[in-house]
Amino acid sequence: MDFALSPELSELRQRVREFVDGRIIPREEAVLAEDARNERASLDALRAEARAAGLWTPHLPRALGGLGLGVMGMCALFREMGRSPIGAKVFNCDAPDQGNMDLLLATASDALKAKYLAPLARGEITSAFSMTEPAPGAGADPTNLKTRADKVDGGFRIRGKKWFSTGGGKAAFLIVMARTSDDDKTGATMFVVDRHAKGITHVRDVPVLAPDMLDHREAELLFDDVFVSDDAVLKGVGEGFRLAQARLVPARLTHCMRWLGLADRTLELCREYLGARRSFGKLLAEHQLVQQKIAEDATLIHAGNLMTLHCAWMIETGGAKDARAYSSMTKTHVARLLCKVLDDAIQIHGAKGYSHDLPFARWYTSARAARIADGPDEVHEVVIAREVLAGRLNLLV
Ligand SMILES: Cc1cc2nc3c(=O)[nH]c(=O)nc-3n(C[C@H](O)[C@H](O)[C@H](O)COP(=O)(O)OP(=O)(O)OC[C@H]3O[C@@H](n4cnc5c(N)ncnc54)[C@H](O)[C@@H]3O)c2cc1C
Repeated sequence: MDFALSPELSELRQRVREFVDGRIIPREEAVLAEDARNERASLDALRAEARAAGLWTPHLPRALGGLGLGVMGMCALFREMGRSPIGAKVFNCDAPDQGNMDLLLATASDALKAKYLAPLARGEITSAFSMTEPAPGAGADPTNLKTRADKVDGGFRIRGKKWFSTGGGKAAFLIVMARTSDDDKTGATMFVVDRHAKGITHVRDVPVLAPDMLDHREAELLFDDVFVSDDAVLKGVGEGFRLAQARLVPARLTHCMRWLGLADRTLELCREYLGARRSFGKLLAEHQLVQQKIAEDATLIHAGNLMTLHCAWMIETGGAKDARAYSSMTKTHVARLLCKVLDDAIQIHGAKGYSHDLPFARWYTSARAARIADGPDEVHEVVIAREVLAGRLNLLV
């Protein structure tokens, strides 16, 4: 395993850190306040600055305006961007757009790339990924997929209901998973669907624990006899479940990178209060019960960081298929550590921690979704246990 960053990547990482600390964090609250008023002048200004600084869409190839980074490079940069909840959006590599760009890059026809990938890479449009459905449809178990795409002359007609399509309300296009046969392995197909195609209704953005933030709004969408032509199919009919796996392994790892950045910043922010607030005759930082929390959190972050680097390195060196169980471990571990670190930060700051004078309460409401989205903890644990019980997982890598 080689996690060392090249000098160029170290320099790039430092530039991203300086951009996040110097430009994004000071304007974070302004961006969020504007967003609540449906305005985005500050966000657009930051995005223009990120582009001018040559830090735009770093995961994409240079031909599409990116930096041509591999997964290790993404890891180095996304952790830094994740230190701010608006960081990924500023650099045009937020979820789900970043995963969708990677999927289109790998599987879409030239015509689809020109129509959707190019403007997405330029930051002119947004996208959504529509797999999850209300019960009894696809959720933790994607084979429950109920949305159907029936073959007709020249294309398909899609009927069904989706929800939790993050950003689906404002997206220009959706990547929709629909059933094209009843086979559990080859029964699903992914389609690139114009969000404003006839027959699509944006029913609502589902209200959730976290306040709305930028494009992180959970759209409920109705597909009533929506026609898509044959060339809307990604990769091939019946490839949907395989593509979902191929998209989700690296996509869930990029979540981990961002979450690690936020957890690290949270711990950093705790230092100030612990070093200043006195209680029972000494600084909070001098109480061993507080020190225990800090030690645990630091250890969890360090372990999560190494797990993420390990998976990134596996994918980069051609071991993506074998990375699946490790990526499940990493995703559950990092999602949980983010929740614990934020919960501890709230506790450590007392009433102020619970207030909106500090960001932890808001961050916690978003972090809680990490244990459900992209597969709930339990489903990942099923994958891990299956591999361990089959004797296929080398734990002492
Ligand atoms: C903020 C947020 C954003 C999301 N964004 C998207 C998106 O952009 N696109 C998209 O398609 N989906 C998205 N999702 C949906 C997400 O992927 C699903 O919520 C997730 O896959 C779980 O499906 P479900 O909610 O239907 O839960 P269910 O399938 O109803 O499962 C409910 C619970 O049952 C338990 N469970 C399920 N299976 C097992 C098992 N085998 N063993 C033990 N326990 C089990 C788990 O605790 C699980 O949480 C998002 C979800 C959230 C919260």
